[in-house]
Amino acid sequence: MAEQLVYFFGGGKADGTAEMKKLLGGKGANLAEMSSLGIPVPPGFTITTDVCTYFMKHDETYPKNLENEVGKALKKVEKLMDQKFNDPQDPLLFSVRSGAAISMPGMMETVLNIGLTEKTLPGLIQKSGSERFAYDAYRRLIMMYADVVMEKALGIIPEEGKSIRAQLEKEMEKVKKAKGVTKDIDLEADDLKKLTEAFKKKIKQVLKKEFPDDATEQLWGAISAVFKSWNGKKARDYRRVEEIPDDLGTAVNVQTMVFGNLNDNSATGVAFTRDPATGENRFYGEFLVNAQGEDVVAGTRTPQAINEISKTEASKHLPSLEKMMPKDYKTLVNIRNKLEKHYKDMQDIEFTIQDGKLYMLQTRTGKRNGVAAIRMAVEMCEEKLIDEKKALLRVKPIQLDELLHPMIDPKKEKKLEPIAEGLPAGPGGGVGKVVFTADKAEAEAKKGEKVILVREETSPEDVHGMRNAQAILTAKGGMTSHAALVARGWGKCCIVGCDALNINTSKKTMTVDGKTYKEGDWIALNGTRGLVYGEKIDLIPSDPEKNKYYKKLMKWADKYRKLGVRTNADNPKDSTQARNFGAEGIGLCRTEHMFFGPERISAMREMILADDKKGREKALAKLLPLQRKDFTGIFKAMDGLPVTVRTLDPPLHEFLPKDTESQKEMAKNLGVSLNKIKEKVQNLLEVNPMLGHRGCRLGITYPEITKMQARAIMEAACNLVKKGVKVYPEIMIPLIGTVEELENQKKVVKETVDKVIEKSGTKVKYLIGTMIEIPRAAITADKVAEQAEFFSFGTNDLTQMTFGYSRDDAGFFLQEYIDKKVLVKDPFQSLDQEGVGLLVDMGIKKGRKTNPDLKIGICGEHGGEPSSIDFCHRAGMNYVSCSPFRVPIARLAAAHSTLNN
Ligand code: PEP
Ligand code: MG
Repeated sequence: MAEQLVYFFGGGKADGTAEMKKLLGGKGANLAEMSSLGIPVPPGFTITTDVCTYFMKHDETYPKNLENEVGKALKKVEKLMDQKFNDPQDPLLFSVRSGAAISMPGMMETVLNIGLTEKTLPGLIQKSGSERFAYDAYRRLIMMYADVVMEKALGIIPEEGKSIRAQLEKEMEKVKKAKGVTKDIDLEADDLKKLTEAFKKKIKQVLKKEFPDDATEQLWGAISAVFKSWNGKKARDYRRVEEIPDDLGTAVNVQTMVFGNLNDNSATGVAFTRDPATGENRFYGEFLVNAQGEDVVAGTRTPQAINEISKTEASKHLPSLEKMMPKDYKTLVNIRNKLEKHYKDMQDIEFTIQDGKLYMLQTRTGKRNGVAAIRMAVEMCEEKLIDEKKALLRVKPIQLDELLHPMIDPKKEKKLEPIAEGLPAGPGGGVGKVVFTADKAEAEAKKGEKVILVREETSPEDVHGMRNAQAILTAKGGMTSHAALVARGWGKCCIVGCDALNINTSKKTMTVDGKTYKEGDWIALNGTRGLVYGEKIDLIPSDPEKNKYYKKLMKWADKYRKLGVRTNADNPKDSTQARNFGAEGIGLCRTEHMFFGPERISAMREMILADDKKGREKALAKLLPLQRKDFTGIFKAMDGLPVTVRTLDPPLHEFLPKDTESQKEMAKNLGVSLNKIKEKVQNLLEVNPMLGHRGCRLGITYPEITKMQARAIMEAACNLVKKGVKVYPEIMIPLIGTVEELENQKKVVKETVDKVIEKSGTKVKYLIGTMIEIPRAAITADKVAEQAEFFSFGTNDLTQMTFGYSRDDAGFFLQEYIDKKVLVKDPFQSLDQEGVGLLVDMGIKKGRKTNPDLKIGICGEHGGEPSSIDFCHRAGMNYVSCSPFRVPIARLAAAHSTLNN
């Protein structure tokens, strides 16, 4: 544990710096940094994350010296503010907030106005000149304190609608009703005074405890509640989803209160130094006059735009900060410029204006969607704020996915009238059935249903449902509301502030313009424009090539990456798609996919049914021209680039029909008896088909299959070469475990293709290599490499055989394994670097030892997954190969690997 437990900031000085996020949390570190930069920050101090860890480990007690250090820091703040904590004349009040190293927006607790008691209230009334203001601050404190410190922190889980906060809110409604008003702001000092009494009574009655009317007790109560909120359910859920370690702990920031709700010359707001939805370089934000921070995020009042360009449909009729308080706006713009220059990244800031003076309460790196991340990275590089390398690292490979994200079909959309309009908080399209609770969203998604989570507004308790929904729709909230922040971080389609929705959670309905939608009804969202449609609309893929920032970024990625990126494709359409996405060849063409067309499957079945070699050859002769045509199309699409074609891999029974009806039809088509077919199906049945007669074993027992395929490949190649197409075929033998298997098949291929080449009178350069997907092949890679011109790691099978988990049957227990932390990740998605990776590493090293020119790639699913790609880079592979839509992700991930290693 670091020695210092408490770090002071304020008055242009600070004990900490922005680099100390781990110890001070993001908020604390940045408050320190801003203070040192001379940006106006209300003074305060940060209690370190080490104290949190200690607190958790030692039965919720503190290190010995903490009280002493807090006391000293408190004195410093008092001196700077020329005010005293617990002073009846002029009380200093504090906010107590959480702040972890990795931002967890809204997941932990905050208590404001700490230090306000019956004793200090008169001082605040006198100072502020407003009895109403002081009592309003007091009732907010009582409500928040009861909720956070006296209920949540003690782990009390009340029934739905019975939380202390809900009950206090009811008290407030009662007072409003009695007075005949609807807004909080219409309550007068006397009403609020009575309300604080009513609150205290209710708290005593419900929680069986007095609200502590003592400043010091409040301070320590709030500190411990914030520490405890690190282990609250929503914080734990969020960490699980975001893969944030549980042992980081949160810091606690105790900071002088400034009041955005002091009078009409006060305000509070949230802003982004650039537009977080589009990435555009424009200052973007929202604020509320005479309000506290929670009012902006809660979405109960419609926030105003900070400037004219931030105005939305909802805020266009309200004055902007730029117009209302031009002096403060100018200060804010200067701070915005200073922060961007200093942090060299988009910042998400919170500010408060107290009686005409602006204070900064927070700055942090702003969350953004993929589209915005790309634009900001490229533009910041063009502005010389960052270099190309930094720009590349600013965009997570997976964020590119959003650009490749589907949108609702614009042609269909044009013909439809939206049922409602809200704020476009998360781009792309979403289609699904309406659900009204997070639990329902999770349950339905688990069943494979596509759902859209519709809520009045979301809270951190909804995170699991939001994660599982196709899209999120809320009736309340602005662009900085919880739903908007979370969805944006995930790049999920989201519309907020859609106030035309009338949601009835208990009846599970939503009414819009007189029409009622029930749970299970289909709706569609255009998250880019904020439009809601009352029906199912098809989604279509987007076209990233139209995005100039994306194109520029990908150019840089190609400049830095060392790994080649190929694609797994087995038809001309996918090959062209992948090439447009930047694929540099085909790393795996699975030829079996070519045998399922109606005219082919019949010839294939004939081949399987044949009793002898002659019969098989007759059937294969029918397949030859069809295969040749397939390869011709693919080679053309990949003109000038290498194409790896794998010989037949799956067990033959996969090509035969299982049910009697289809078997009857097959018998009729082939003119054989049903019995013969049933017999063959029976014969081909294998207890464990994935370990039976498949891969190179097929070609070894039936060399005529390999011959036909090799001939088709090379005839297509020779024909095209004659026409000036550049073809680089690479013939790949699957599933070998011994070098002899490869030798056998290599001989068959070589004899066949050399004959074709000789006959055609052309020259075609080709390679013969193998997949490494059986552990024995990796272990004996030195021998295998003497016979192979390239290796391609088939990590799907290699994972299956290393773990002994059947690829096709592991789904259900793997999820449980991950839930129970038996496995950290699904090894079929993210390469198990410790085990399977060791085999890959050994295979590469041994292979290159006997064959230094060996070209090595990967074509298992892992070839498109960023952490596995990084492994491939470090292991020294030449290329990765992945599905077409993951090609851009792989290109960027490969560039990251170069830059990070
Ligand atoms: C592999 O096993 O990793 C591979 C690419 O082959 P398939 O998925 O076709 O078995
Ligand atoms: Mg395989």
